Amino acid sequence: MRVEADYDVVVCGGGAAGIGAAIGAAKSGAKVCLVEKYGFLGGAATTSQVLAYCGLFQQGREPVRAVSGVGEDVIAEIRELGLDGGAFRSETTGNWIVLLDPEILKFALDNLVQRHRIDVKLHTRVAAVSRTGKRLEAATLAGMSGRRHVVAEAFVDASGDANLAMLAGLDYQIGNGEGRLQALTMPMRIGGIAPDLKIDRDALQSAIARYNETGRYPIQRTDGGIIIRLPLSSDMWWMTVDLDIADLESDSFTRAEMAGRAMAHDYLSMLRRAMPGFENAYLVATGPQVGIRETRHPVARYQLTKEDVISGRLREDGIARAAWPIELHGEAGKPVYTPIGGEGYFHVPYDAIRAKSLANLWYGGRVIGADPDAYGSIRVMGTAFATGEAAGVSAADYADRNHKTDCRSVQARLSAQGAMI
Ligand SMILES: Cc1cc2nc3c(=O)[nH]c(=O)nc-3n(C[C@H](O)[C@H](O)[C@H](O)COP(=O)(O)OP(=O)(O)OC[C@H]3O[C@@H](n4cnc5c(N)ncnc54)[C@H](O)[C@@H]3O)c2cc1C
Repeated sequence: MRVEADYDVVVCGGGAAGIGAAIGAAKSGAKVCLVEKYGFLGGAATTSQVLAYCGLFQQGREPVRAVSGVGEDVIAEIRELGLDGGAFRSETTGNWIVLLDPEILKFALDNLVQRHRIDVKLHTRVAAVSRTGKRLEAATLAGMSGRRHVVAEAFVDASGDANLAMLAGLDYQIGNGEGRLQALTMPMRIGGIAPDLKIDRDALQSAIARYNETGRYPIQRTDGGIIIRLPLSSDMWWMTVDLDIADLESDSFTRAEMAGRAMAHDYLSMLRRAMPGFENAYLVATGPQVGIRETRHPVARYQLTKEDVISGRLREDGIARAAWPIELHGEAGKPVYTPIGGEGYFHVPYDAIRAKSLANLWYGGRVIGADPDAYGSIRVMGTAFATGEAAGVSAADYADRNHKTDCRSVQARLSAQGAMI
C-alpha cells in the first residue's frame, strides 16, 4: 500500500486521553495525526453522555486541583464558549466534578486541535498496523475514501479499548483477568421538567420501589442513582440504566444497546406517571452509544496496584497525578468507592504508560497499566487528560531524541507546558 503521509506521532482515539496526547505532542513541536472513528471528538463525554469530568480535583472539603496542562486548556475553552467550567460538588458522591454540555465540548475541542495544527481524521479508524521487531512502523487508516497508510516515529493508543495495541498483536487482559467486565451504563438526558423543580429523592426512591414490584426492568440503584441538573439546558442527567455484559462480542453489545433503550423508555414512563413535575418529561438523548466502562487492558511495563492508590504513593518517575477514588461497578447499579490515602493523589509512573514489548507505543487514558482496583481510579476523564498528555509528550520526545526514551526529559517537558506532576 502507498504511504500517504509521514508524522512524528499518530494518536488513535479522540477522547480525553487522545486530546491530551495530540495537544501534548503538538505543544512539544511534533507533527501529529489524531484519528477518531466518530464525527466529533470527546470520547465518552460526547459518545455516551458522560457529562462530567472527574479526577481534575482531589476529594475533600475544598476542590484542590490535580490536573492542569491540556485538561485546563479544555476547561478554559468551554468557559470561552459559555459553560461555567468550575468545580461542582456532586450531591450523590461528594466529589468535585466539572459539568459539561456535549455540543459546547465538541466545538471547544475542534477549536483547540485546529489551533495546535493537528491533522485530525474524523470518521476514520485505525484498522491495522505494521511492525518490525520492537517498533511500530505504520498504521492503516480506514475512512470514507477507503484505506490509507501513514507512517510515524511514535504512536499513542488512546482508544479506550486498546484497539491499536490489539492490532499490534500485544497481550491484553479482558476485564478483571477472569473475564468479568464492569457493568455498562446508558446515561439518560431528560428534558421537559421545570428548571427550578427540586427533584425529590425520597419520592423517587418510593417510585422506584413501587416500579420494582412489577416493572419489567427492576432498577438496581434503589437510592435513585446519580442525578444532576445539566448546565444551560437544566436537563436531568440520570444514571440508572445499568447492564451487565458477558464478553466483547458484537451480539452482546447489540443486545445491550437495545435493552438499554427499552429500559430508558420504561423508566421515563415511570417518572411521568409517578413523579410530580415530570408529566411532560421526554428523553432528549441516550447518546450515540452505551457507556462502556472497561474492555481490554494491554500489558504495560508497570501495572498500578490497589496499594499504590490507597497509600497515595508518590514516586520519582511520576508523570501524572491521579486523584479520583477507586470506583468499582462490579455489580450493576452498586458502585463502591475507596478513597486515596497520603496527599490525596498518587503518581502514575512513566512505565505505566509504556507498552511492554514495543519501544515506540505509549498508552493514555483507560488503557494504561493498572490492576482492577487501580483501574477503578485512573479511568476517569480528568486523569485521562493527564496520562494522555504524558503519552503524547513521551512520543514527541522519543521522536526528537532519535528513538531514545528519557523519563526526566518527559517530566521537564510536561512541567514546561503546565502539566502537574
Ligand atoms: C457510564 C459511565 C459513566 C462514567 N462516568 C464518568 C464521569 O462522570 N466522569 C469521568 O471523568 N469519567 C466517567 N467515566 C469513565 C470515563 O468516561 C472513561 O473511562 C474515559 O472516557 C476514558 O477516556 P479515554 O480517552 O481513555 O477513552 P474514551 O473516552 O473511550 O475515548 C476513546 C476514543 O477512541 C475512539 N476509538 C476507539 N477505537 C478507535 C479506532 N480503532 N480508531 C479510531 N478511533 C478509535 C473512540 O471512538 C473514542 O472516541 C464513566 C464511564 C462510563 C461508561
